[in-house]
Amino acid sequence: MPATHEVTNQVPPLVGHDVAAYPPLLESLEREGAGWATEEVHALGRRAGSAEAQEWGRLAEKNVPVLHTHDRYGHRVDEVEFDPAWHQLMAVAVGAGLHAAPWGDDRAGAHVARAAKEFVWTATDPGHICPISMTYAVVPALRANADLAATYEPLLTSTTYDFGLRTPTAKRGLIAGMSMTEKQGGSDVRANTTTATPNADGSHSLVGHKWFTSAPMSDFFLTLAQAPGGLSCFFVPRVLADGSRNAIRLQRLKSKLGNRSNASAEIEYDGALGWLVGEEGRGVPTIIEMVNMTRLDCTIGSAAGMKIATMQAAHHARHRSAFGKHLVDQPLMANVLADLAVEAEAATYAAMRLAGATDRVARGDEQEAAVRRIALAVSKYWVCKRAPSHAAEALECLGGNGYVEDSGMPRLFRESPLMSIWEGSGNVAALDTLRAMARQPESVEAFFDEVELAAGADSRLDDAVGRIRKELTDFADIEYRARHLVERLALVFQGSLLVRHAPAAVADAFCASRLAGDWGVAFGTLPVGVDSATLVDRASVELPA
Ligand SMILES: Cc1cc2nc3c(=O)[nH]c(=O)nc-3n(C[C@H](O)[C@H](O)[C@H](O)COP(=O)(O)OP(=O)(O)OC[C@H]3O[C@@H](n4cnc5c(N)ncnc54)[C@H](O)[C@@H]3O)c2cc1C
Repeated sequence: MPATHEVTNQVPPLVGHDVAAYPPLLESLEREGAGWATEEVHALGRRAGSAEAQEWGRLAEKNVPVLHTHDRYGHRVDEVEFDPAWHQLMAVAVGAGLHAAPWGDDRAGAHVARAAKEFVWTATDPGHICPISMTYAVVPALRANADLAATYEPLLTSTTYDFGLRTPTAKRGLIAGMSMTEKQGGSDVRANTTTATPNADGSHSLVGHKWFTSAPMSDFFLTLAQAPGGLSCFFVPRVLADGSRNAIRLQRLKSKLGNRSNASAEIEYDGALGWLVGEEGRGVPTIIEMVNMTRLDCTIGSAAGMKIATMQAAHHARHRSAFGKHLVDQPLMANVLADLAVEAEAATYAAMRLAGATDRVARGDEQEAAVRRIALAVSKYWVCKRAPSHAAEALECLGGNGYVEDSGMPRLFRESPLMSIWEGSGNVAALDTLRAMARQPESVEAFFDEVELAAGADSRLDDAVGRIRKELTDFADIEYRARHLVERLALVFQGSLLVRHAPAAVADAFCASRLAGDWGVAFGTLPVGVDSATLVDRASVELPA
């Protein structure tokens, strides 16, 4: 059979590269005190970019988890079946310590190293990062019950992935989830209706429903329920000490826009046994310790998504020609790519700065705790909020090919809104910033102390800080204005980091567009004079020869 045509002008597959070869990440790793982990991050980056790991990600997303509520005889089993690729991804993630491992690691920078590894491993499949993140996040909350923490923390920090429904203490490693959201509301968890009735032996029996509980195959959940003394936090294992199943019924798995490799379930507690974590009636302050960690991971995950999207777009533009030139050499495409690159750099700098703060807070640094309070709230809002428009624009850089599943771009796009919904949807994240300002005014000054470390270095940043300080003198209609305010706080935080630490080309592009306003509404509207070539280079990866 004669060939009808030769295939030309298609880009080479983007596999076999080192996902960690991303200057903003490596610069941040060093700056935040985990330069010692550079080789480990590269090793995981090479694994993440390998054809094998990329294929695991594809299979885990394509072959979605299946819920088995009953066995063939009609007994409840409440099990979720995953593609083997899911378990491969989980095993590598746990083995590399992306879950709770830093809580058992005394080295300064352990949380930073973990953040960088999570950033690169997200390139395989963001779905499985959900249970990995919750397992990371659960430790500070679980410490509110010293006995439970003493028993379970060593198993949470273990680098062995041990899947299967068995008594948690009989396993070599554990995965944890959180169960807060109910049908009538997720933001306003104080409206939860699940009840917890005390038993004589100190346990509680939980009855109620949860509308979103991701990673339902976790070994235990931290669950909010109404005890006699008010909304409280409970440790609820899937299997009890005697090996019997706790009364947790998986009713249905959600059919989701994206994040499809990860199971998210509706579950019923039918007299499930739980043990109090923290004080009765203090469920929200207890579980907020967990939420604060997953909010960090939402920021890391969104930054990672933007990095992957920019890398894919730059790769395509470097290899695809139109109108006689590579796309990357077409001035308007250079502007789009550079604008996407600035956004991803700013997000990465912010996420890694927050990972550094988390590391120092874990070692007792109170000033960093005050900085983190506002900086995390505004970054969770802004970085996650930028992800969907960033993903859409990056997808368009691939033209029609970007709209086709094989390119991987539709998957990035479907994933992109999630981090802004989960753990405080946009408005809730913005309102959380106002709450922090009102309740912990010292965190506002700590935030500005941090931002003003760059004072005098760039007048565009100085002016933006002056404007936001002025905006903060007026509290009229503050809730109505919350998004506007929080967006500007996030931008000066990013701007300060870039002005102090990033190459001049990055800081200049950011300040000219995001702070001085010489910018349009869509990506690709950077002003003339920006060094777009440097920006695109920093977002590009070299394939092995
Ligand atoms: C894929 C996925 C996985 C999830 N996994 C889990 C999980 O494992 N465990 C868990 O507990 N939950 C989980 N959730 C639930 C998630 O945390 C909630 O969806 C989220 O907190 C929002 O709650 P809601 O859906 O009830 O929306 P609502 O609370 O009804 O909010 C709807 C909208 O109103 C806005 N809003 C709320 N209050 C205000 C206000 N005062 N002023 C202005 N606007 C407001 C919100 O920002 C949001 O945009 C998951 C969700 C998804 C999509």
